[in-house]
Amino acid sequence: MVTRFLRSRQASDSAKSLMRAALIEALQSPACALCQIAQQNNPRYVETLLDEAVIDVDQRDAWRAAKGLCSWHAWMAIKSPQGAGSLAILYQDVLRHDLSLIDPVTAPDDRRQRSEQRRFLRRLRNWLESCQAGPTCPACRTWGEQEDLYVQVLLNDWPEPALSQAFAASVGLCWPHLRRLAARQPGHENLPAILKAQRACLERLQRDLESFIRKLDYRFADEPYGREADAWRRAVSLYAGAAGWLGSAPR
Ligand SMILES: [Zn+2]
Ligand SMILES: [Zn+2]
Repeated sequence: MVTRFLRSRQASDSAKSLMRAALIEALQSPACALCQIAQQNNPRYVETLLDEAVIDVDQRDAWRAAKGLCSWHAWMAIKSPQGAGSLAILYQDVLRHDLSLIDPVTAPDDRRQRSEQRRFLRRLRNWLESCQAGPTCPACRTWGEQEDLYVQVLLNDWPEPALSQAFAASVGLCWPHLRRLAARQPGHENLPAILKAQRACLERLQRDLESFIRKLDYRFADEPYGREADAWRRAVSLYAGAAGWLGSAPR
């Protein structure tokens, strides 16, 4: 936590103004701005991480413990043009480790003997415990630190009219990112104003959903759709975040 705080303080003024500009731009999209930035930036983060992890053997322990990348980042990595070689090397290492863990439950024994069966069940239990969720995916960890910086910029720069007005006109944040923002600095002086603006976004979505549902009725089916046309999609992404994002390892 202290390390993260120090890192956030180290972001230069020019980096912060770039982040603010990225936030304002992302707020124009019909999705949570932080989800939008995550979708845009993560492919680049994954590519860099793959390059570094192949060279830096010390990072292999983290890859083994996390059993590679989470589902979101893994499928992103597969689409990376240069990813094949790095993924083969890194996952060979992870697989070698996991083969050693599954060894005890695949070794031949005589299951007809009760004592052997008990031993097998104990080894199986140990193996299942070793498969429990381990440390966070290496890419999630890297991105999580960057995302904290964006959250911090949103909190600190809220009084900038360009930012707060863009937020007011946007769909707001998804619930997971709103909780992350609120938990980051619960005592931040700008948090109440952000929560109030978010509430207005949620109320607008609620009205759009009502309007969309009303037009499902055959009596109003001829009325043209306006901004409520994608209200159902916005409602789903409010809870689910961007595609794949919440499929990542716990953060
Ligand atoms: Zn989000
Ligand atoms: Zn991940």
